[in-house]
Amino acid sequence: MLVRGEGAFVWDDQGRRYLDGASSLWYANVGHGRTEIIDAITAQLAELESFHTFGDFTNRPASELADRLASLAPQEGSKIFLTNGGGDSIETATKLARLWHRLRGEPERQHLISRTGGYHGTHGIGTSILGMPYKDEFGQLVERTSQVQWDEPAALEAEIERLGAESVAAFVFEPVIGSGGVLIPPPGYLREVERICRDNGVLTIADVVICGFGRLGTWLAVERFELTPDMIVFAKGVTSGYLPLGGVIAAPRIVEPFWTENGGGHTFAHGTTYAGHPACCAAAIANLDLLAADGLVSRALELESSFHGRLEELCGHNRVSEIRGGVGLMAAVALDPELVLREPGVTQKLWSRGREAGLLTRWLRDGVALAPPLTIEEEHVELALDALASALDGIA
Ligand code: PLP
Repeated sequence: MLVRGEGAFVWDDQGRRYLDGASSLWYANVGHGRTEIIDAITAQLAELESFHTFGDFTNRPASELADRLASLAPQEGSKIFLTNGGGDSIETATKLARLWHRLRGEPERQHLISRTGGYHGTHGIGTSILGMPYKDEFGQLVERTSQVQWDEPAALEAEIERLGAESVAAFVFEPVIGSGGVLIPPPGYLREVERICRDNGVLTIADVVICGFGRLGTWLAVERFELTPDMIVFAKGVTSGYLPLGGVIAAPRIVEPFWTENGGGHTFAHGTTYAGHPACCAAAIANLDLLAADGLVSRALELESSFHGRLEELCGHNRVSEIRGGVGLMAAVALDPELVLREPGVTQKLWSRGREAGLLTRWLRDGVALAPPLTIEEEHVELALDALASALDGIA
């Protein structure tokens, strides 16, 4: 049971301290216990704790946050749809994609393509586009979805051809696959799939729920690969987890049928009770302020190669097969595949041994992931390396 957090550390109810090596679940980008965010939330709760944003209602933090996020978007004139988290936002973007095509006279464009290894939350559509084998445990939820090999543009092209481009609505992708193993796309892959989608009238939906807000050394991760997606799905790091919030950034051409100056656009009949919650938006604004004021986005970029280089020291260990990463402050320590095959519980064991040594990571199919707060210092990296070395010895 965790009871306290400060900076890059959390403490349990026995007084034990842990380095938060995975930013909780990939979201504590500014670290724990930042009073600036807590104060902003408290002040907002005292002024207007909540009111919905249906119809033409808005509130000051929701409006300011939308402007701030739109100004970060790669395409000028983008608009923001706020939700409560990543899963909500995936449902929003994919439904919006299908509706957008319908409004343009192509209602048959419904198929959603995603990548093997991709994770997009637990909702109906998110589960259906999941790139991990356990999705089959739930039977078929949403029809007209399929997955392609995560690193081959030709696989996407072939799938669009197989389905017929006129039936494909959107391609959903994480710039760097997170929970699926910290999989860095091959050079040029993302630009190439963007081109394939454009050529085939398929919308692109970048899921930057993990990669956004500094994790990859840029605000929205897509800049890192010079992408201009039709929609960007975000959550987690937008508030560093101080309160739940997510959303979708829609490019101008997506917005167009819904947003006319005289209010005559089509209604997107979709919205959650707490979308635009003032306290959550106040948390996000304070978090964006901190990321900017502390230079944390560029810091991640500066630290990425030394962080990755230090972790590569673990490659000397006979249980380690590779260190994946090198783009932003996220990495995976992957174990020898034969060992994982022989002993499927070994990754969980590695994770537990790390925890005993004072380091919290995120377990993966073949190892553990690290994605520390962007405030991390050299001494924290040392601590993580020592804990990982001892954890690796512990599974020997
Ligand atoms: N997309 C990605 C890439 C994620 O990693 C996650 C959560 O880990 C989600 C979507 C779902 O977000 P949430 O758990 O906030 O619904």
